[in-house]
Amino acid sequence: MINIAIDGPSGAGKSTISKLLAKKLNITYLDTGAMYRTVALYCIRNNVSISDPIAVESILDNINISYTGSALDKHICLNGEDVSLAIREHQISKAASDVSKIKAVRVFLVNMQRKIASESDVVLDGRDITSVVLPNAKYKFFLTASPEIRAQRRYEELKQKGQELPYEQILKDVIDRDYNDSTRKESPLIQTEDSILVDSSDKSIDEVVDFMMSYIK
Ligand code: C5P
Repeated sequence: MINIAIDGPSGAGKSTISKLLAKKLNITYLDTGAMYRTVALYCIRNNVSISDPIAVESILDNINISYTGSALDKHICLNGEDVSLAIREHQISKAASDVSKIKAVRVFLVNMQRKIASESDVVLDGRDITSVVLPNAKYKFFLTASPEIRAQRRYEELKQKGQELPYEQILKDVIDRDYNDSTRKESPLIQTEDSILVDSSDKSIDEVVDFMMSYIK
């Protein structure tokens, strides 16, 4: 199996780059952040308090995650409903970051991710892929960019979707989420020693993909 593990903070370009790598290599792409977002969406829709780990743990059995669409354009489904657009709402980002601190949620999703990676060649991106999910992956990358560049990218992305938010608020959210993700007790975002550092701040998408492809045999 070829497993390519990519970690990094939000807005570094992980999903864009991972999709392109998967396409070039003709393998599957798995966006693990989408899974945390889906759990958060379920909690919000069903009035489950995300700050209550026991309440969240007790509803995990009600969540069935599946996929529809093609290998390169997979849509995530929550109990059979395609929620790939709903999970991209701005408010879900913070809720996903909060829900991802809960150990039971991580165990639930990490098991699912490992199973998928054991059955197919896959590019996985997230926060704990190189450190926890697939520490023995053949290729490991840490993809990052400055907070200002990441906030600017997020601003453009939301604007294109018709969600206009002030840049300053997005920058603050990016910095808060970085802090949340890298200081939490369970599987914090870290750059493992054996991950290749890729800073996308002043690189084009193609430059990043070419750089990573130069390591992948
Ligand atoms: O990557 P994305 O921004 O969609 O992820 C949403 C949130 O899910 C992140 O802020 C992070 O807290 C959490 N996450 C995680 N572990 C992963 C992927 C995402 O904790 N492997």
